[in-house]
Amino acid sequence: MKTLLEAARELPVIQEVDVAVAGGGPAGCAAALYAARAGAKVMLLEYSACLGGVATTGMMSHWTGATESPFVTEMQDACHALVWPVERGYQPDYHSINHEKLKLVLFDKLLEAGVIIRTRTVCADAILDGHTVRGLVIESKSGREAVLARTVIDATGDGDIAAHAGVPFRKGRDEDGRMQPVTTMFKIDGVDFSRAIFPGSFESLVQVPAGEIQALGKSILPKPAGHVLLYRSTQPGQVVVNMTNLTDVDGTSADDLTRAEIVTRRQIPAIMDFLHQYAPGYENAYLVASAEMVGVRETRHFQGEYTLTADDIVNAVQFDDWIATKCFFNFDIHNLDGAGLDKNGAQHHFSAKGKYTIPYRCCLPAGTDGLLLAGRDISGTHKAHSNYRVMPICANVGHGCGVAAALAAQTGVTARNVDLARVHTLLEQQGMSL
Ligand SMILES: Cc1cc2nc3c(=O)[nH]c(=O)nc-3n(C[C@H](O)[C@H](O)[C@H](O)COP(=O)(O)OP(=O)(O)OC[C@H]3O[C@@H](n4cnc5c(N)ncnc54)[C@H](O)[C@@H]3O)c2cc1C
Repeated sequence: MKTLLEAARELPVIQEVDVAVAGGGPAGCAAALYAARAGAKVMLLEYSACLGGVATTGMMSHWTGATESPFVTEMQDACHALVWPVERGYQPDYHSINHEKLKLVLFDKLLEAGVIIRTRTVCADAILDGHTVRGLVIESKSGREAVLARTVIDATGDGDIAAHAGVPFRKGRDEDGRMQPVTTMFKIDGVDFSRAIFPGSFESLVQVPAGEIQALGKSILPKPAGHVLLYRSTQPGQVVVNMTNLTDVDGTSADDLTRAEIVTRRQIPAIMDFLHQYAPGYENAYLVASAEMVGVRETRHFQGEYTLTADDIVNAVQFDDWIATKCFFNFDIHNLDGAGLDKNGAQHHFSAKGKYTIPYRCCLPAGTDGLLLAGRDISGTHKAHSNYRVMPICANVGHGCGVAAALAAQTGVTARNVDLARVHTLLEQQGMSL
């Protein structure tokens, strides 16, 4: 490929903070919030126009799993407390996400805690001093700028900063690097809830007049779409649809993402036709919105001081250096060749001994200081990742990393050398304990 040499230039340093958080999804928001509440000066940088990541810009239906998450509980309580006239008398499921309320609540909570927020800003590079990350190069309408930080928390989902810093990684499955399919979520209105079906998993087999809905989806929907996943939203008559599907997309490639945005959006009219024809209660449904960006399930897996495995999850290992606790979910590997579940059916054989912990070492990138991984980009195997990628678990990891980074700044040590016993004491006071 032809290349150009970019000229060196001086960058304005717009902030010097204790903790810079790259990415404002569930992990990044939790990291920023709890770091600020622990007394750190924190800046959060997010390339979308709002916070929440897949929970908002990805139009996600609900916070999944039986994980106990103080962050999720606080955000959901605040969202549910905002009742608007049209909702009076309608009781949404506690875990369903109201995207618009969550956008407001996240801004409010983080600003109240003192977090400096920058939206529409891409974290473009890591500022490196040898093997230590000292800050971020950012790019926005304001141009190219720098933020210096004692600790950078990479909560970009894809681990963009860790990749720039040279932390070794592989993508997707161990054997061939293939990654889970991507989905553009969308929302429909006009559904008759008194008759509607809500198949919430690939195994939800629902008989409708023309046959079984998953079987109909597989034969009629445009491939590689083919499964039927429909979730009640927080508004009466509205349903969040998780049915577009595209395989073999690399979420770290702008070209692949563009292709995915186009192909998955083009699946929506056929999905609407399918719902009108085969799904009771959906005869008059109409499209109201689609997610701002395609949802990416899996990309880079970094080499950390420890790599979480599926066995650790099944055995509910209680690591001494825990940074997230009370995590619980099934393995959730989608079919890499089409619709539905992975052929190995990892989740059919799931029987965990209890709730699991995630060790701090999974957040410590091998060979690089000044940087923590938080969210779906921590160090773990493809199979383990299919479990810890759900939002409440990502939020708990962010929560723990935020507190660790704040304490590291207060005690004048690197995040790697923070006193974990003190971190645990703080986390226990905030509802995260073994
Ligand atoms: C289609 C789909 C369905 C899912 N269903 C569920 C579900 O029902 N329930 C559930 O709990 N989980 C679900 N998940 C999983 C879950 O949503 C994600 O794994 C989780 O959101 C990861 O959290 P995160 O904070 O690590 O990353 P993200 O939520 O991806 O947030 C990362 C944030 O970083 C920002 N960012 C990225 N790169 C940069 C950069 N270079 N500079 C600045 N900002 C950047 C992004 O804009 C984003 O806001 C689903 C995921 C997908 C894709």
